[in-house]
Amino acid sequence: VFVCFEGGEGGGKSTQARLLAQWLEVQGRRVLLTFEPGDTPVGQELRRIVLSPETGSLSPRTEALLYAADKAEHVDTVVAPALERGDVVVMDRYVDSTLAYQGAGRALAVAEVEHVARWATHGLRPHLTVLLDLDPAIGHARFEGRDRIEGEPLEFFVRVRQLFLDLAAADPEHYLVLDAARPVDDLAAEVRARVEALL
Ligand code: C5P
Repeated sequence: VFVCFEGGEGGGKSTQARLLAQWLEVQGRRVLLTFEPGDTPVGQELRRIVLSPETGSLSPRTEALLYAADKAEHVDTVVAPALERGDVVVMDRYVDSTLAYQGAGRALAVAEVEHVARWATHGLRPHLTVLLDLDPAIGHARFEGRDRIEGEPLEFFVRVRQLFLDLAAADPEHYLVLDAARPVDDLAAEVRARVEALL
């Protein structure tokens, strides 16, 4: 079983991913808790390039390809082997983030970015994506200026959020959309209920 958490910054994706992984372990499941970008040795290098403010601006296609490289390495060396072992994979960001940030955010054709991302990931799709939806004005106000992406204007993040919502609306069977402003424990309980039905 493969579960992803998606959404803008400040929505608590990492917290919810961790809570789900902890609960699954208590249920006696073997779990791989992982994230993109950056959870492989080469991915760490790629993450530094795409997120460090020192990188400066990148051509949008360069950025999309660097994220695709991170995904290819991650899926081939970490995610697919874990799924083959029968682990539950809980992931913080995946293909939807690329469609949202490199596609809608950077104003590349989303279908083209998707083509590259699906190739990079062998078309591997999560059984469930939990979208932690948050008004980007809230997340934007919390930025601390650490990442390259955090210099983007609010409009960028409005496009990102809309793309996430559009993906979820087009495929409700594979998405759980939650209001990220709700209490952490309530959100975690809803996530558990939906994941339990998949196990
Ligand atoms: O999820 P996390 O906060 O670690 O993401 C780090 C940064 O990477 C965020 O600022 C996010 O906007 C950016 N990102 C991106 N494109 C992706 C994935 C993440 O711009 N495909």
